[in-house]
Amino acid sequence: MKIEECIHYLYEKYKNDLSGRVSHSFPALAAVDPDLFSLSVVTADGKSFSVGDKESLFSIQSISKPFSYALALKQHGSEFVEEKVGMEPTGEDYDSIIKLDDLNRPFNPMVNSGAIVTTGLIGSGVKNTKKDELVGYFSDFAGRELDIDQEIYASERENGHKNWAIVHLLRHFNLMTKDFKDDLDLYFNQCSILVNTEDLAMMGATLANGGVNPKTGKSCIDPKNLRHVLSILLTCGMYNYSGEWVFDVGVPAKSGISGGIIMIIPGLMAISVYSPRLDKRGNSVRGIKVCEELSNIYNLHILDSAGPNSTKDIL
Ligand code: GLU
Repeated sequence: MKIEECIHYLYEKYKNDLSGRVSHSFPALAAVDPDLFSLSVVTADGKSFSVGDKESLFSIQSISKPFSYALALKQHGSEFVEEKVGMEPTGEDYDSIIKLDDLNRPFNPMVNSGAIVTTGLIGSGVKNTKKDELVGYFSDFAGRELDIDQEIYASERENGHKNWAIVHLLRHFNLMTKDFKDDLDLYFNQCSILVNTEDLAMMGATLANGGVNPKTGKSCIDPKNLRHVLSILLTCGMYNYSGEWVFDVGVPAKSGISGGIIMIIPGLMAISVYSPRLDKRGNSVRGIKVCEELSNIYNLHILDSAGPNSTKDIL
């Protein structure tokens, strides 16, 4: 079965699965329509297929983390960023308060402490342009201009007490500068960037295509930093399901509490799913089922010696 037919098949198979619960992390997120469901694929050479509520925009939440990490790597180099944030999975909740590694760094850039420190690094030095630099960079990956959902942003800023606690502790340990409140504000903006599944699949396809956006031809990330980002996604992208994810699905991926998932099949394509009902670890219930099944159907696990099905069977 070709991928276009396959996503329609999976959409029909899971569309009536209403298990799980929408995130109640803050009011504006809890208010989304729980039944929305869409799937998109963008291939490394730019073909795109979607099914379901593909026009529905939602806040990117934690799927932003690999892209802000990529921007910090681009602006400051990996040695500098690695001094500030590690690369080990934590086995702790993504918003746990706060655990540092033996080098006194947050464990990795996919948990909130590491992600906020990473976002705090963003800035080319030009005054007051950090938000524009960040949204512009995400837009390069998506191949269109992205916006911030002001209601989501305001709701999280007002209610994100754990993240406020995390930055105060990070500041206490001298892991953030005196600008830590502005840095958290930038992080809240980053999490509130609006995308649909086509955008996410295009962002993922840029990672799958050696860092070059397949639609615009723009180079977004160099090969060395791309390898860093994909490595972190493979080991730390799926909350406390990351180990099991590598075991069962075996591709770099990232999940967010708004119900999105992207998975990247390097050299081939990226697949995104949006379905807001989450399991107890914070992953989209339908999203996990779809991704597991896609990996099995096409033999996508990167450690499988047979390798993925040939491109002509998939596309
Ligand atoms: N904005 C959310 C937070 O920082 C993102 C969480 C997520 O998607 O994992 O808590």
